[in-house]
Amino acid sequence: MAEYNPKSLKAQEFIHDGEILATLEYAEANKNNIELINEILEKARPKKTEEGCVCAGLTHREASVLLACDDPAVIERIYEIAEEIKLAFYGNRIVIFAPLYLSNYCINGCVYCPYHRQNKTIARKKLTQEEVKAEVIALQDMGHKRLAIEAGEDPKNNPIEYILECINTIYSVNHKNGAIRRVNVNIAATTVENYRKLKDAGIGTYILFQETYHKESYEKLHPSGPKSDYAYHTEAMDRAMEGGIDDVGLGVLFGLELYKYEFAGLLMHAEHLEAVHGVGPHTISVPRIKKADDIDPTAFDNSISDDIFAKITACIRLAVPYTGIIISTRESEAVRSKLLRLGVSQVSGGSRTSVGGYTQEERPHDTEQFDVSDQRTLDEVVHWLMKNGHIPSFCTACYREGRTGDRFMSLCKSGQILNCCHPNALMTLTEYLTDYAKEWTKETGFQMIEKELKKIPKDKVRKIAEQNIEDIKNSNRRDFRF
Ligand code: SAM
Repeated sequence: MAEYNPKSLKAQEFIHDGEILATLEYAEANKNNIELINEILEKARPKKTEEGCVCAGLTHREASVLLACDDPAVIERIYEIAEEIKLAFYGNRIVIFAPLYLSNYCINGCVYCPYHRQNKTIARKKLTQEEVKAEVIALQDMGHKRLAIEAGEDPKNNPIEYILECINTIYSVNHKNGAIRRVNVNIAATTVENYRKLKDAGIGTYILFQETYHKESYEKLHPSGPKSDYAYHTEAMDRAMEGGIDDVGLGVLFGLELYKYEFAGLLMHAEHLEAVHGVGPHTISVPRIKKADDIDPTAFDNSISDDIFAKITACIRLAVPYTGIIISTRESEAVRSKLLRLGVSQVSGGSRTSVGGYTQEERPHDTEQFDVSDQRTLDEVVHWLMKNGHIPSFCTACYREGRTGDRFMSLCKSGQILNCCHPNALMTLTEYLTDYAKEWTKETGFQMIEKELKKIPKDKVRKIAEQNIEDIKNSNRRDFRF
């Protein structure tokens, strides 16, 4: 029997079933231990030090105790600290992105995904480079600057060369003042060599959802195809980092397995990356199963309520304070509103989850990966964010300035966000407002920018930001960044 070892490169040693079960037992035994809970909450709070604001984060065991606790007063406290952390490290900025589906050809048998090989009802489609270009123009015309590309796994139809060609095409399109400045990639687990190719193609984050950390369930849920290999899938992030990718994004598909098990597994994965590579995940996504072509979400009996979902998100915020949390349009406006306060730092907007969906007037459903709950346009999402006090940010500066991996973490810790990410958010928001926004969004946005500029502590930085904002409004100069 394998021993638990966060530093091991073997899936079953760093995601150790015995350690997860012991964690759940420990959490259950201590869920009313208010003394311990108060200690954990105190540890999670951001602290001011000489080097700036720091946060200790929590171990998977500590965070699991909080997740197990049902006391409403404790949950309220968890929410307050989650918001405190969010404001300390991310401010009120929310980064915006959109998914771009390249191909839904897939040879896997994932039972929750409509792209599974056995599905004969779904139309199969793969974008040509001309179609990629057209999609990118449509996305640029909405105002997007950051994409997450998505594809099924099919070495014949979607080989790595196809993905690389698409990335190249995406970066090469400049329509009017538009540009895609960061392409994140969500494709199946692959080899170190292929990760190196993705790195060389200039990708941002490599995203791969674990789906479930429970090996036995994983094998049942992935009965066929390359994805059925639990170890190969679970060890993918180590190969990605070996291939030179600094920023990796984890995620669990909530609803497949018991959420407390997944939560502990997810944090153990983050601890493993930190232990082996010296840097934790750049982002964590929290998708829940949705209805899709031949997929009925009620067939999965581990679905979680909105309240539990909020609690999970807040506990992730406390456990890994320097990791971005992503919430997609799988969730409704109401759920997204609540979660934004609890530590979410990135949202998608105006998303279409079908292959070629952005170039069509009406939302197409034939090749869709899942039903989109939040169907608002990007402009409506931007407007809504601002009305709720968040700054929509189209910033992609960090990775383009080489601030990836641990360098991004040091920026977070140094408290320089207000002198760097904050002005970058305001300048990219100005680009959006000037080039793409509807009148009512423009009005709200420019008022917000005026107010937010005052929060930049360094005089010199503030003056440069003000000048750049004027330049964006009055000329075609774009892409200023700190
Ligand atoms: N083929 C790659 C892979 O297997 O990792 C790319 C990922 S797929 C295009 C994106 C993600 O969508 C999956 O990792 C899965 O978590 C999620 N997904 C699949 N079916 C879903 C459903 N019915 N509802 C919500 N999310 C789903």
